[in-house]
Amino acid sequence: MGWDRHRLVAGRPCLLGGVRFEDCPVGPLGHSDGDAAAHAVVDALLGAAALGDIGRHFPDDDPAWAGADSLDLLARATALVRAAGWRVGNVDLTLILERPRIAPAAGRMRAALAGALGVGPEVVSIKATRGEGLGPEGRGECVTAMAVALLLPAARGAEGDPA
Ligand SMILES: [Zn+2]
Repeated sequence: MGWDRHRLVAGRPCLLGGVRFEDCPVGPLGHSDGDAAAHAVVDALLGAAALGDIGRHFPDDDPAWAGADSLDLLARATALVRAAGWRVGNVDLTLILERPRIAPAAGRMRAALAGALGVGPEVVSIKATRGEGLGPEGRGECVTAMAVALLLPAARGAEGDPA
Protein backbone atom coordinates (compact mmCIF):
# COMPACT_ATOMS: atom_id res chain seq x y z
CA MET A 1 0.00 0.00 0.00
CA GLY A 2 1.25 3.46 -0.85
CA TRP A 3 -0.05 6.86 0.16
CA ASP A 4 1.11 10.30 -0.88
CA ARG A 5 -0.11 13.86 -0.76
CA HIS A 6 1.22 16.98 -2.44
CA ARG A 7 0.10 20.57 -2.16
CA LEU A 8 -1.38 21.97 -5.39
CA VAL A 9 -0.01 25.40 -6.18
CA ALA A 10 -0.11 27.89 -9.03
CA GLY A 11 2.90 28.02 -11.30
CA ARG A 12 3.79 24.34 -11.12
CA PRO A 13 3.35 21.99 -14.08
CA CYS A 14 0.44 19.70 -13.40
CA LEU A 15 1.88 16.22 -13.73
CA LEU A 16 0.03 13.21 -12.38
CA GLY A 17 0.54 9.57 -13.26
CA GLY A 18 3.09 10.63 -15.84
CA VAL A 19 0.51 12.72 -17.70
CA ARG A 20 0.86 16.49 -18.15
CA PHE A 21 -2.40 18.42 -17.73
CA GLU A 22 -1.70 21.50 -19.82
CA ASP A 23 -4.93 23.34 -18.95
CA CYS A 24 -4.71 22.97 -15.18
CA PRO A 25 -3.65 26.23 -13.44
CA VAL A 26 -2.20 24.42 -10.42
CA GLY A 27 0.28 21.60 -10.06
CA PRO A 28 1.76 19.45 -7.31
CA LEU A 29 4.57 21.04 -5.32
CA GLY A 30 7.52 18.77 -4.61
CA HIS A 31 11.27 18.23 -4.60
CA SER A 32 10.81 15.96 -7.62
CA ASP A 33 8.17 16.72 -10.24
CA GLY A 34 5.62 16.20 -7.43
CA ASP A 35 3.75 13.40 -9.17
CA ALA A 36 1.82 12.07 -6.16
CA ALA A 37 0.21 9.31 -8.23
CA ALA A 38 3.54 7.86 -9.30
CA HIS A 39 4.92 8.26 -5.78
CA ALA A 40 2.04 6.30 -4.24
CA VAL A 41 2.66 3.48 -6.71
CA VAL A 42 6.39 3.52 -5.88
CA ASP A 43 5.59 3.16 -2.19
CA ALA A 44 3.06 0.39 -2.89
CA LEU A 45 5.70 -1.59 -4.82
CA LEU A 46 8.46 -1.03 -2.29
CA GLY A 47 6.12 -1.83 0.58
CA ALA A 48 4.88 -5.07 -0.98
CA ALA A 49 8.49 -6.21 -1.36
CA ALA A 50 9.39 -4.97 2.15
CA LEU A 51 12.05 -2.73 0.62
CA GLY A 52 11.28 0.38 2.64
CA ASP A 53 9.81 3.49 1.10
CA ILE A 54 10.39 6.16 -1.50
CA GLY A 55 12.22 8.42 0.96
CA ARG A 56 14.78 5.71 1.65
CA HIS A 57 15.64 5.09 -2.00
CA PHE A 58 15.10 8.58 -3.41
CA PRO A 59 15.55 11.03 -0.50
CA ASP A 60 14.01 14.44 -1.00
CA ASP A 61 17.07 16.16 0.49
CA ASP A 62 19.31 14.59 -2.17
CA PRO A 63 20.03 17.01 -5.04
CA ALA A 64 20.21 13.98 -7.35
CA TRP A 65 16.40 13.75 -7.24
CA ALA A 66 15.61 17.47 -7.57
CA GLY A 67 13.05 17.83 -10.32
CA ALA A 68 13.18 14.08 -10.85
CA ASP A 69 10.91 12.48 -13.40
CA SER A 70 8.70 10.35 -11.18
CA LEU A 71 8.12 7.80 -13.93
CA ASP A 72 11.87 7.28 -13.82
CA LEU A 73 11.65 6.76 -10.04
CA LEU A 74 8.86 4.26 -10.66
CA ALA A 75 10.95 2.39 -13.21
CA ARG A 76 13.84 2.32 -10.73
CA ALA A 77 11.56 1.04 -7.96
CA THR A 78 10.26 -1.63 -10.31
CA ALA A 79 13.83 -2.72 -11.01
CA LEU A 80 14.52 -2.98 -7.27
CA VAL A 81 11.42 -5.11 -6.79
CA ARG A 82 12.39 -7.34 -9.71
CA ALA A 83 15.90 -7.74 -8.35
CA ALA A 84 14.34 -8.95 -5.10
CA GLY A 85 12.56 -11.74 -7.00
CA TRP A 86 9.13 -10.24 -7.65
CA ARG A 87 7.06 -9.19 -10.61
CA VAL A 88 4.14 -6.80 -10.70
CA GLY A 89 0.76 -8.55 -10.69
CA ASN A 90 -1.46 -5.50 -10.69
CA VAL A 91 -1.73 -1.96 -9.37
CA ASP A 92 -4.84 -0.09 -8.26
CA LEU A 93 -4.57 3.66 -7.79
CA THR A 94 -7.10 6.09 -6.32
CA LEU A 95 -6.67 9.84 -6.58
CA ILE A 96 -8.59 12.30 -4.40
CA LEU A 97 -8.57 15.81 -5.84
CA GLU A 98 -10.74 18.59 -7.16
CA ARG A 99 -8.72 19.29 -10.27
CA PRO A 100 -7.62 18.42 -12.85
CA ARG A 101 -10.30 16.03 -14.05
CA ILE A 102 -8.68 12.61 -14.27
CA ALA A 103 -11.23 10.64 -16.28
CA PRO A 104 -10.35 12.08 -19.71
CA ALA A 105 -6.68 11.26 -19.11
CA ALA A 106 -7.06 7.93 -17.32
CA GLY A 107 -6.15 5.89 -20.39
CA ARG A 108 -2.95 7.84 -20.98
CA MET A 109 -2.14 7.63 -17.27
CA ARG A 110 -2.58 3.86 -17.26
CA ALA A 111 -0.31 3.55 -20.29
CA ALA A 112 2.35 5.81 -18.77
CA LEU A 113 2.42 3.98 -15.43
CA ALA A 114 2.28 0.58 -17.12
CA GLY A 115 5.26 1.54 -19.25
CA ALA A 116 7.32 2.38 -16.18
CA LEU A 117 6.14 -0.79 -14.44
CA GLY A 118 6.93 -2.98 -17.43
CA VAL A 119 3.40 -4.44 -17.52
CA GLY A 120 0.37 -4.10 -19.75
CA PRO A 121 -2.13 -1.31 -19.06
CA GLU A 122 -4.83 -3.92 -18.39
CA VAL A 123 -3.31 -4.57 -14.95
CA VAL A 124 -3.11 -0.89 -14.00
CA SER A 125 -6.30 0.62 -12.57
CA ILE A 126 -6.92 4.35 -12.11
CA LYS A 127 -9.81 5.72 -10.08
CA ALA A 128 -10.44 9.30 -9.05
CA THR A 129 -12.82 10.90 -6.61
CA ARG A 130 -13.45 14.38 -5.27
CA GLY A 131 -13.33 15.70 -1.75
CA GLU A 132 -16.94 16.95 -1.76
CA GLY A 133 -15.80 20.24 -0.29
CA LEU A 134 -14.31 18.52 2.74
CA GLY A 135 -10.73 18.67 3.94
CA PRO A 136 -7.72 19.91 1.99
CA GLU A 137 -8.63 17.81 -1.06
CA GLY A 138 -12.14 19.23 -1.10
CA ARG A 139 -10.76 22.76 -0.87
CA GLY A 140 -8.49 22.04 -3.82
CA GLU A 141 -5.36 22.53 -1.74
CA CYS A 142 -3.79 19.15 -2.44
CA VAL A 143 -3.87 15.90 -4.31
CA THR A 144 -3.89 12.68 -2.33
CA ALA A 145 -3.01 9.38 -3.94
CA MET A 146 -3.46 5.87 -2.62
CA ALA A 147 -2.17 2.79 -4.36
CA VAL A 148 -2.23 -0.94 -3.79
CA ALA A 149 0.17 -3.25 -5.60
CA LEU A 150 0.15 -7.01 -5.86
CA LEU A 151 3.54 -8.62 -6.38
CA LEU A 152 3.97 -12.19 -7.53
CA PRO A 153 7.06 -14.38 -7.23
CA ALA A 154 8.95 -13.84 -10.46
CA ALA A 155 9.99 -17.45 -10.85
CA ARG A 156 6.49 -18.91 -10.82
CA GLY A 157 2.88 -18.03 -11.36
CA ALA A 158 3.45 -16.78 -14.89
CA GLU A 159 0.89 -17.44 -17.60
CA GLY A 160 -1.67 -18.60 -15.07
CA ASP A 161 0.53 -21.38 -13.74
CA PRO A 162 -1.17 -22.41 -10.48
CA ALA A 163 2.10 -23.61 -8.99
ZN1 LIG B 1 5.38 12.50 -3.33
